[in-house]
Amino acid sequence: MPMLNSRPEALVKPIHLMPAAARAQLTPLAARLKGELKGDVLFDRAARGRYATDASIYQIMPLGVVVPKDQADLTLALDIARDAKAPVLARGAGTSQCGQTIGEALVIDTSKWLNNVVHFDKDARTVTVEPGIVLDHLNAWLKPHGLWFPVDVSTSAQCTIGGMAGNNSCGSRSMEYGIMVHNVEAIDAVLADGHEARFTALSKMTSDARTRALVEAIRNIAQREQQEMRERIPKVLRRVAGYNLDLFDCQSPLPFSADGEPNLAHLLVGSEGTLAFSRTLTLKLSPLPAHKTLGVVNFPTFYGAMDMTQHIVKLGPVAVELVDRTMIDLAMSNPAFRPVVEKALVGEPQAVLLVEFAGAERDVQLRKLAQLVELMADLGLPGSVVEMPDAGPQKALWEVRKAGLNIMMSMKGDGKPVSFIEDCAVPLEHLAEYTSRLTEVFHQHGTEGTWYAHASVGTLHVRPILDMRRDGAQKMRAIAEQAAALVREYKGAYSGEHGDGLCRGEWVAWQYGPRINQAFRDIKALFDPDNRLSPDRIVNPPKMDDTGNFRFPPAYRAGEWQPQLDWSAWNVTRDPLTGVEGARGSGGDRAQGLAKAVEMCNNNGHCRKFDAGTMCPSYRVTKDEQHVTRGRANTLRLAISGQLGDEGLASRDVKDVLDLCVSCKGCKRDCPTGVDMARLKIEARAAWNARHGTTLRERAIAYLPRYARYASRMPALAGSLERMPALARWVKARLGLAPERSLPRFAKPFLSVATRNTAANAAANTAAGTKEVLLFVDTFNNYMEPDNARAAQRVLEAAGYTVHFNVQRGERPLCCGRTFLAAGLVDEAKAEARRALDALLPYVERGVAIVGLEPSCLLSLRDEFLGYGYGEAAEHLANASFLFEEFLVREKQAGRLELALKPLDTGKALLHGHCHQKAFDAMRPVETVLGWIPQLQVEAIESSCCGMAGSFGYEAEHYAASRAMAELSLLPAVRKAGDALVVADGTSCRHQIADGAHTEAMHVARVLAAALRER
Ligand SMILES: Cc1cc2nc3c(=O)[nH]c(=O)nc-3n(C[C@H](O)[C@H](O)[C@H](O)COP(=O)(O)OP(=O)(O)OC[C@H]3O[C@@H](n4cnc5c(N)ncnc54)[C@H](O)[C@@H]3O)c2cc1C
Ligand code: SF4
Ligand code: SF4
Repeated sequence: MPMLNSRPEALVKPIHLMPAAARAQLTPLAARLKGELKGDVLFDRAARGRYATDASIYQIMPLGVVVPKDQADLTLALDIARDAKAPVLARGAGTSQCGQTIGEALVIDTSKWLNNVVHFDKDARTVTVEPGIVLDHLNAWLKPHGLWFPVDVSTSAQCTIGGMAGNNSCGSRSMEYGIMVHNVEAIDAVLADGHEARFTALSKMTSDARTRALVEAIRNIAQREQQEMRERIPKVLRRVAGYNLDLFDCQSPLPFSADGEPNLAHLLVGSEGTLAFSRTLTLKLSPLPAHKTLGVVNFPTFYGAMDMTQHIVKLGPVAVELVDRTMIDLAMSNPAFRPVVEKALVGEPQAVLLVEFAGAERDVQLRKLAQLVELMADLGLPGSVVEMPDAGPQKALWEVRKAGLNIMMSMKGDGKPVSFIEDCAVPLEHLAEYTSRLTEVFHQHGTEGTWYAHASVGTLHVRPILDMRRDGAQKMRAIAEQAAALVREYKGAYSGEHGDGLCRGEWVAWQYGPRINQAFRDIKALFDPDNRLSPDRIVNPPKMDDTGNFRFPPAYRAGEWQPQLDWSAWNVTRDPLTGVEGARGSGGDRAQGLAKAVEMCNNNGHCRKFDAGTMCPSYRVTKDEQHVTRGRANTLRLAISGQLGDEGLASRDVKDVLDLCVSCKGCKRDCPTGVDMARLKIEARAAWNARHGTTLRERAIAYLPRYARYASRMPALAGSLERMPALARWVKARLGLAPERSLPRFAKPFLSVATRNTAANAAANTAAGTKEVLLFVDTFNNYMEPDNARAAQRVLEAAGYTVHFNVQRGERPLCCGRTFLAAGLVDEAKAEARRALDALLPYVERGVAIVGLEPSCLLSLRDEFLGYGYGEAAEHLANASFLFEEFLVREKQAGRLELALKPLDTGKALLHGHCHQKAFDAMRPVETVLGWIPQLQVEAIESSCCGMAGSFGYEAEHYAASRAMAELSLLPAVRKAGDALVVADGTSCRHQIADGAHTEAMHVARVLAAALRER
């Protein structure tokens, strides 16, 4: 098949690592696949476990998984499965909410390799793609051509076109552009018997006998049921249940094809992989709207918002999206979302509607916005609209709306919002009544739901909070039946967006009646008589409340586990009606909250995104489910609940899945439910090491702060290692370090010099009223880059501070203990933390800030220290700890800091943020302080983790992944920096930049010190 030379995402091929399946015992099917395919063949229990779930409440172990390398591999996999009579399940990103992508079948994952643009016709506005391409990547590729694929689903950063077509997905702007079925022109597909056909407009269908017969048979069934379909199919835009058998006589208010010609591809759209496997899809594109305006309407009541939607849509917006009070509150508690949401609110609304107008002319959009303001005044809500005519704030607010469901899922406790009636669609005139009556239904069952999403088309997402481990199944059935009755009364559609899968399959017959249901059976039999493609979905589906298919069935229990860190914040109950959380530790977790922290992952797959933020660097370079936060959380969940054997967290499966996790804390910030894998990795590493012991390399790294002082006494000797290549090679090989890496260089330590005269360290010696600060000089800046500490001291003293240091008379410097955590030596890390706490608290109590230079060290005081069970003392210290630049900004804002700065030789600074700086939202202060330097233009590099991540990048087996992470964007940007100053606060980041781009990056303290005006 001819390919355009275009792999849209990041333009970097994923690196290929040895999958864990190599260790597993192979079944005959696995053995043959392994023998013949180029791609990954994954049959071990942990890999199958990672593909046993999607974003639904279900879990079913697949037979195995294939990740085909190319189209030929796909053909082979399908042939081999057919020979073995094995069922096959197509998978994209696995973000389905109803269990579409799970089953006891051979799962074929197209997302890693089958993601190319195959053909593009700008004039015809069509593009042909492989099924694994991610929507956002496609749209980024199309943007320079002024086009986009407009089915803008919330999961656009990770979901694939194959999966979107499978589910007949719907975007926020469906009112304007329709849903998938309106935007797919053709699908090249493989049938269950291996026959290949291009499904497209009737007049363009290939004319081989098998295809002709198939089309004829479909047409006959459709004709037979034409009258029944006219009567039974709901006339709403969003109707995605069953098969689109009305393609010959379309029942949607928006015709499937613009010219009215029947298109056989539309039968495959929404068929959830039950009819054929899509090889490529040809999509209809739309011009990118040149201008957009947004009006945020604030409502005092939820009912009012629902009732007034029908009037708002008459203004012709492209989207009207709802965000309710619960979601506003949850978003306001997220530090990243709060400032964005605040700007959209007038007072304390119970609901807001995001009303977007888009088109070619800005004036027209602005007029529409003015009309919205007028309309709301006429409807009795003057002053309720926040106008957002500019792109920046609009984008930020849409991100919050897109994260809506994920925000909701961040609730702690066993009760979770459960998806099963979440996309019923009703005609707009009934929306207000429908939502009130359904809320009453929730209350009857002692629960509550949170409403959001597509008000414009009557599809409001709502998930009642249910505890599937207890009485969730019964309540789910009862609520579903009552909701279905309401949907029927209002002539709506039961499945208006998320498809059927395991959860709504049984409602297909309910929705369409026995005749149409039989027609669907006939269609399935025509395509797949042996029921091998996504078996028992849409036709013959299981019961939605079959607890045997649940991820958390009533028998689910985490094993007993005594964690090393304090996880009690997750071990809570939560009242579904009031939202009140019980006390810490009240949740009944036998793993003291650790299991509940792991279970927070709801599989939405947001960690598979590529575009922004830090999460997840290891996925960005491998594109493996094993190396993404979701895969890790699933593996930990399976391990801790005994589904991977008896070893729990100490198992090899757990060790493997965390192997490429660089503990960047990207997920802590970017994962909408706050899965903190870096912290979980500490537990897993501790569990492994408790059973298997630590390696020489781990100990060498862990105890670095202890022996660094000896090495730094002989810097020449330590430095000479690199001048003796044979010796250096031996040392690296002995320790398992990458030969390509330069070894760290030691220097005369800063603290011994700087602190000679610091008897002033003692609290009593400082005069009242003096401006004081304690500079926490970490191991790396003390023994390897003391210039940074010197520079920080200069800057602080120039600003009039008395500087104390992290030393105690007669003791080695205080240390954050981070290197011990990396080796799983939690007790040692805790002991270091205790020492630091005891020594620093007197300063903290006196109001002295603790200021650090190395983000990973200083931020340990704000993060890891809180997990050691040291109570309020740790919290006081955390509140008083700042990065150098954070402290400067704080002091300046308080009017206590003046720095006289002069321009530098260069006018531009390129800034790379350490992952932990990003995780703690601490990038802005670096930009701010650099901005104080006259004439310096500051540009931040849009980068994820640098890939060095402490010792990770040094380790021989991780070198390739480490470099690949750096090459994603950081190193190319540095190479293009010209004479710009490269600024990076992280020791590891500077080392990676030096090794990979041969450029010296500077800590911000040195940049400021260089800009100090001599007084
Ligand atoms: C937080 C969240 C928000 C969501 N928001 C939306 C939304 O706004 N709108 C919406 O419509 N949905 C939404 N969804 C549901 C889901 O994300 C979408 O349906 C998405 O398009 C699925 O894409 P995927 O790549 O994950 O597909 P998958 O889940 O991997 O697969 C979906 C279906 O397509 C089939 N399939 C995949 N590839 C092929 C192929 N090559 N050939 C044949 N069949 C194939 C699969 O077997 C499966 O039945 C949301 C889900 C979550 C978790
Ligand atoms: S780890 Fe977080 S982002 Fe990834 S799937 Fe789980 S909940 Fe979503
Ligand atoms: S800590 Fe970083 S590498 Fe590890 S799972 Fe989270 S985002 Fe991925």
